[in-house]
Amino acid sequence: MDLQQLQVFEQFADNVDFAFWVCSPDVTKYYYMNSGYEKIWGRTVASLIENPHSFLEAVHPDDVERITQAAIGKEPWNMDEEYRIIRPDGTMRWVRDRTYPIYDDQGNIYRMAGTAEDITERKQEFKDLNQSLEQFKQFAENIDIVFWVCDVDVTEFLYISPSYEKIWGKSCASLYEQPRTFLDSVHPEDLPHKMAAIENNPTSMDEQYRIIQPNGTIRWIRDRTFPVKDENGRVYRMVGIAEDITYRKQAEEETYKALQREQELSNAKSEFIATISHEIRTPLSVIQSSADILHHNIDKLTDEKKQKHFTKVNSSVERITSIVEDLLIIAEDEAGSLQFQPNQVDIVQLCQEIINTIINYNNRRINFQVLGDASSNAILDAKLIHHILVNLLENALKYSQANTKVDLELSLLPNQIKFRVQDQGIGIPTENLPHIFNSFYRANNVETKPGTGLGLSIVKRCVDIHHGGIAINSSVGKGTIFTVTLPRETSSYKNL
Ligand code: ADP
Repeated sequence: MDLQQLQVFEQFADNVDFAFWVCSPDVTKYYYMNSGYEKIWGRTVASLIENPHSFLEAVHPDDVERITQAAIGKEPWNMDEEYRIIRPDGTMRWVRDRTYPIYDDQGNIYRMAGTAEDITERKQEFKDLNQSLEQFKQFAENIDIVFWVCDVDVTEFLYISPSYEKIWGKSCASLYEQPRTFLDSVHPEDLPHKMAAIENNPTSMDEQYRIIQPNGTIRWIRDRTFPVKDENGRVYRMVGIAEDITYRKQAEEETYKALQREQELSNAKSEFIATISHEIRTPLSVIQSSADILHHNIDKLTDEKKQKHFTKVNSSVERITSIVEDLLIIAEDEAGSLQFQPNQVDIVQLCQEIINTIINYNNRRINFQVLGDASSNAILDAKLIHHILVNLLENALKYSQANTKVDLELSLLPNQIKFRVQDQGIGIPTENLPHIFNSFYRANNVETKPGTGLGLSIVKRCVDIHHGGIAINSSVGKGTIFTVTLPRETSSYKNL
């Protein structure tokens, strides 16, 4: 090495941040040690040259025995050790120390060279990485999300988190062995779509599909994949997250249903306004035409004809009054102020009056039958009973053909009054029955029959106020029976 080369080497040696040296094979004499030693050990090179084993004084007590053995033991030129040193200022550093033999012409070791680098940061990073990996593992293994890593063709899984067993109900081992078996659980209706996604763009999927667990339970899965690239930017793996979104799906479905219901209600209300207008307009036009006839032909009409028109006007007014009453009841009910005023009523007479009003308007027969004891007195709210019976009887007539029978059977029992309204009409579909007492609700077989969907909700409210019960027995195409049971005893109202 000429002088210039030596200067370049020394400059280089002084600027690197690792120590390197040349010494005798027994480490008793240093021929060269760069300033890296001072940077790492915090001790002078001179002190080492003076006392060649003094680097061992800095070794951490837990590592000193192992390192002494390796550094000055049998083969100090074949060392590759990591250990801690404590510097004079008390700080601790991790060092990686490696030595190599240097042979003479005869093949004997006559020198050895060594390098020592400060690996504290790397160790820390490694520790951090390990910690993060450990945290990730714990996280991955404890949540209801399956994490996995596999090759781009989905032919080998490198990692699959244990949640797979919980969500898919199959072992992780089965997937390591046969990577595509997770597809066996995919719902047959969703499988073609899932397969197409795997074939088209396996590393950037975002799919939702159903799986069927071995016990038959269906779960909704959201499955996403992300590409993993090597240093050349080539996708060589993919990671994926498959989460169980069944509850989210259910919640979405419920919200959707609630919105739909809201929409239906809003439509029903608009329809309700239209219906009410129509319902009022019909009797109004009857009034109008009878009034016109009476006005223009008052001298020509027979008394009988005049009477017929007066009756028509009267029933139409009654009809309108009844509609307005319904509206008022609903309004009162919604304001929570529907009044309960029980009084002694002759229930047989009340039924008869109600039937007469209805048949006047409807031109149909209602068979009325009374069963039970002679006394027909009870303490009831006549107005509310009126609402109950008018609505049930008018429905029975409206939802049945003119040539069929409608019956009202009144049972006067010792403690109860029972009304049974039976028709031979269209019936109520089973799926509509649970909602039939809701305001504005109408069954799906009403076709063009007019109605507001308010009657039965009023009936229910009036029955509840009496602390009574109502039952429906209906068969589509055959007919319907409504049975209302009310207590007869005044004491039942005590708590109202
Ligand atoms: P509406 O004004 O529509 O008749 P209601 O509240 O009185 O309203 O009744 C609610 C729904 O219940 C009706 O729209 C109809 O679908 C069904 N319904 C009630 N009574 C009968 C019956 N006797 N026969 C068949 N369906 C009935």
